[in-house]
Amino acid sequence: MNGTIGMRALSALLAVLLVSAGVVPAVSASEGKSENTNIIGIDVPVPEQLVPPDAESLHLMEHDDGVIIDNTVVYLSYWNEKLNWGISEEEIKEYSQILEKQVLIRYYDVDHRYYYISDLDKFGKDLGLVLGFDADETDRFIRSHREQLVKDHQNYHGGTFAPDNRIQDYIPPGTQSAPYAHGKMYYLYLITNFQTQSSDGAWTVADRDDALSDAYSGTNAIRQQAPSGANAVNDGGYYTVTVSGANTGDNIHAWGVNGWMEEAARNLGYSDSNGDGRTTDDMARSAKSWSGADTVILLYLTHDDMGGYAVGPDQGYADKTAISYWGRSSSGRFASQPGSYEHESLHLYGALDEYAGASSCGQSSILAVSPMHDMYTNTNHVSCPSSTNSVMRDPYKTSTISTSSRRFIGWGDYDNDGILDPLDGTPWGPSA
Ligand SMILES: [Zn+2]
Repeated sequence: MNGTIGMRALSALLAVLLVSAGVVPAVSASEGKSENTNIIGIDVPVPEQLVPPDAESLHLMEHDDGVIIDNTVVYLSYWNEKLNWGISEEEIKEYSQILEKQVLIRYYDVDHRYYYISDLDKFGKDLGLVLGFDADETDRFIRSHREQLVKDHQNYHGGTFAPDNRIQDYIPPGTQSAPYAHGKMYYLYLITNFQTQSSDGAWTVADRDDALSDAYSGTNAIRQQAPSGANAVNDGGYYTVTVSGANTGDNIHAWGVNGWMEEAARNLGYSDSNGDGRTTDDMARSAKSWSGADTVILLYLTHDDMGGYAVGPDQGYADKTAISYWGRSSSGRFASQPGSYEHESLHLYGALDEYAGASSCGQSSILAVSPMHDMYTNTNHVSCPSSTNSVMRDPYKTSTISTSSRRFIGWGDYDNDGILDPLDGTPWGPSA
């Protein structure tokens, strides 16, 4: 027993040494898969391969107006107060019943037991009819709702980004599992359940497949926009794992050394082979080795409405993010979208937020490695002159990656010599 473990530890060390010395190529993906173990010799099965969703489900992506009403009284009360409709509490209850019977019944989602509105214009007109609105009032409701949705969506995408947020002079690319968006990019999804479940319960197969389909589309949008010099290729797989406690959101109980993200890696069978107190780095390195990827991102998917956030580079080697299946809005909820996965992944490659209240114009990126970290600043923040809409500004409206973000994630060419910055031995130019 001890002997076996000793041998494993030794071969693990040997493998790490050999790989880091660059004398042997990483174990090929097929070899790793046939043995169903990862390169460091621990008996952890490789993740389930992520298969592309069929073309039909990809076409159903256009629902950026998606609004979920889980409590009609709460929903109407919110808008009554916000827009000063002057409806009494009693009337709210009556209108709620009428709305549910005459309008919302068409939007009922049996599996989740809530109403899913995919077309706000149409629903707004129906609601206006029930409440006896004139055209102006209806129009005001739809407009306000849309504005509020943008704010709710942005609240969903909070960023952790290093609690201290001290901008360092130089961030070595080797310190991150996804330093920039080049080469084969492996997305490792961790379908995470909590022992203390949210009111939404554990992941269902239908919701998991829906989330993975959105994730596939969102990460594919990154690959499709990559310059040819980045040789972008996507790959991905998923694990299902249960961790202790409850999901309390973006805090140290999630991404800290003793947080549930680390626990998930341990529960899957990985161990801290380099003694840094973390196991997510070992899991990311393992996935990188057996898949032959250049970058690995860990995406923890949770079946609740706790929001999405990218974890800062000060929390270990593994670039990681948490993305919940729903987002919480002021009057109900909304479903996460392909843009959610694209947005958070771009953070991990180095991009900054570009919406109001997050980041700022002219800011360096703590999320970008050098040399991109040192040479570029945020030039597409909404407060910058000639800022254009982008997935870092509004992930629910567009998948477009701005020029500013492209530079942060390694798609720029600072000295204009035809070689992308991360591949350029003299990125600042020959004379610099
Ligand atoms: Zn963000």
